[in-house]
Amino acid sequence: MDRSAIRVPYVALPLRAARVKKELMAAIEKVVDHGVYILGPEMEDFEHRFAHYCGTRYAVGVGDGTSALILTLKGLGVGPGDEVIAPTYTWVATINAVVTLGAVPVFVDIDESLTMDPRAVEAAITDATMAIVPVHMRGAAADIAPILAIAERRGLAVLEDAAQAVGGLYHGKRLGTFGKFGAFSLQYHKTITTGEGGMVVTRDPEIAARMRVMRLHGMSRDAFNRFTAEVPSWYYEVVAPGYKYNLTDIAAALGIHQLKRAREFQARRAEIAAAYAEALRGLPLVLAPEAAPGDLHAWHLYAVRLDDAAPVARDAFIERLYADGIGCSVHYIPLHLQPYWRERYGLVPAAFPHSQRAFKTMLSLPLYTRMTDADVQRVIAAVRAALG
Ligand SMILES: *Cc1c(COP(=O)(O)O)cnc(C)c1O
Repeated sequence: MDRSAIRVPYVALPLRAARVKKELMAAIEKVVDHGVYILGPEMEDFEHRFAHYCGTRYAVGVGDGTSALILTLKGLGVGPGDEVIAPTYTWVATINAVVTLGAVPVFVDIDESLTMDPRAVEAAITDATMAIVPVHMRGAAADIAPILAIAERRGLAVLEDAAQAVGGLYHGKRLGTFGKFGAFSLQYHKTITTGEGGMVVTRDPEIAARMRVMRLHGMSRDAFNRFTAEVPSWYYEVVAPGYKYNLTDIAAALGIHQLKRAREFQARRAEIAAAYAEALRGLPLVLAPEAAPGDLHAWHLYAVRLDDAAPVARDAFIERLYADGIGCSVHYIPLHLQPYWRERYGLVPAAFPHSQRAFKTMLSLPLYTRMTDADVQRVIAAVRAALG
């Protein structure tokens, strides 16, 4: 396969566009001018804006989405032997974060919505369960209401993996603000990006304060208040075995720029998704589930599934699209099929029938804000031809 012939990649380099170069350079220049590269004014400003955007009280900037998940699981007190319920249909980071803390991941299936099945969650709860981690996959809201109800009834915490969900709304609230914590990724391919970065959001001031301590070696933040007379400049206290997970100010400066455009980005993504839905209706495809009326899909990914009437199997379909210059990908290979997880936890496909069926037929079409209308039309024409 000659990938150099790709005319519409499945994802574009988001911060490369010549039209934003000036703004990005100006953002970076601010940091170079004041010289505070960590825990400085850009990070504080970005955190403040991010919390405001989410309609929540606190946002804590961290190095990436995986650190955000580890920090929040740790904040819930998750440790060795505790069980954490998460979908098999997710990016590997969700589960790696659980295992990093010595906890036990409990994999559950998705349902027709392509997000974690609340009935499977209920069935997976044991005395050792500490937390439930719904994932807003592809930017689509997980089935939050029943999951919150189960968690409340069983006395469990909910931590939302909102890594793909900046821009999404459910029942009038931002994704990531329903559970005790939301963990966001600002990685390069996500809906807004700082190149590499992450954010934890919460409404609880004590939790937020603890996150700030834990992201910086477990050192008390008061120790950094070097301008009060009482605290000598060299003094610090280690109050917990923490991490080194802070976001940098250069990343935060890029994030401020991106966040200002988050609404515009979501609208463009939704426009592209609507164009696909309109033009691909009637083909032997199951189109991406839409958000319920009044909600907003973050549209990180646009995934279609081939239906039984499709004249071609998924892998061959992808090859046809590539041959036509259209990039696409598969998000993701469910974790129960990955050698490590399969063998370590004895996972079998029969336990995850929905994930299994979805994985065999699913692929992601190109979707990114810099796509032109002509790009969208090229993708549509190629999909039609490949199914023709
Ligand atoms: C990207 C992603 C993460 C991890 O985020 P990073 O910033 O890459 O560490 C976690 N969960 C999901 C569902 C993701 O898509």
